[in-house]
Amino acid sequence: SLTTTRNMHNGTKIPAIGLGVYKAEPGEEVYQAVKSSLEIGYRHIDTASLYANEEDVGQAIKDSGIPREEIFVTTKVWNDEQGYEDTKKAFDRSLKRLHMDYVDLYLVHWPVPGKFVETYRALEDIYEEGRAKAIGVSNFMPHHLIELMKHAKIKPMINQIELHPELQQDETRKYCTENDILVEAWAPLGKARYFDNPVLQELAAKHSKTPAQIIIRWQYQTEIITIPKSVHKNRQEENVNIFDFELSNEDLEKMATINKEKRIGPHPDEFD
Ligand code: NAD
Repeated sequence: SLTTTRNMHNGTKIPAIGLGVYKAEPGEEVYQAVKSSLEIGYRHIDTASLYANEEDVGQAIKDSGIPREEIFVTTKVWNDEQGYEDTKKAFDRSLKRLHMDYVDLYLVHWPVPGKFVETYRALEDIYEEGRAKAIGVSNFMPHHLIELMKHAKIKPMINQIELHPELQQDETRKYCTENDILVEAWAPLGKARYFDNPVLQELAAKHSKTPAQIIIRWQYQTEIITIPKSVHKNRQEENVNIFDFELSNEDLEKMATINKEKRIGPHPDEFD
C-alpha cells in the first residue's frame, strides 16, 4: 500500500512511492499538488533546491496538519551550490525554506566533477548532526560511486537515477543492490512520452489498468522507489491505484523487453 516502506542500510525507512514536484510551479500549483497528494495518502515528497518550490512544499506539509514525522521529505543540493562549505550553507537555506529542522533525505543532485566528494563530506556532517535522517546521491553511475567510496565514511543510502521502461539501468541497479544502496527512479513514467508502447498497452489491457499504473506497479514489485509527478489530484490517485493487481513473472519479463537504455535527460558525465 501507500504506507509500504523500504529499509535503508542505516535502519531508516523510505516510503516506496512518493510525489515528485519538479516543474510544479512555485505558489498555488505546487502547494495544491502537495496538499492533494497528502489527502490521498502520499507520505513522501521529492523536491530540490533547483525546483524553487521548497517553501510551498513546506507550507503545504505544515497546513496539512499531518505530524512532520509521518511525512518523508527529500531535497537536494544543486550543482552551483556544491563544495564543502557551500553545501552546508545550501542545506541551511533549504531547511529554512522548508520551515523544518531536519529532512528525511538529502541528496547530491549530480556528480559535479572535482566537487562531489567534498559535497558529500558536508552531507556526512549534516547526517551526523541529525539534520538529515539519511543521505545519498543522484545521477551517480558505478564509477562515480566507486570514486566516492574511496573517500566517504558513510555509504550513500540512496541513488536517485533516471529510470523508466526504456531506461532500466541494469548496470547501476546491479551495482547498487550489491552495495546495499537503494535505487530510486526519477522520470519513472518516462515523462509520459511513450505510453503508446505496445507492451505497455498490452499489459494495460490485460489488467484493466493504465500504462502509468503498469509502470508504477512494475517499479513497486521490483523494489525501485518511485516518485511520479503530477499536480492533478485525479492523476495522483491514478498513479497510486496499483495495489489491487499483480504483474506475473511473464509480465515482468515483457517489461524487460521494452528496455533500450535510452535516456531522456542528460548523461551523468555530460550534464552542465
Ligand atoms: P515523470 O516520469 O514523473 O512524468 C511526469 C509527467 O507525466 C507529468 O508532468 C505529467 O504530465 C505526466 N503524468 C503523470 N501522471 C500521469 C498519468 N497518470 N497519466 C498521464 N500523464 C501523467 O517525470 P518527472 O517529473 O521528470 O520525474 C518525477 C520526479 O523525479 C520529479 O518531479 C522530481 O521530483 C524527480 N526528478 C529528479 C531528477 C534528478 O536529477 N534527481 C531529475 C528529474 C526529476
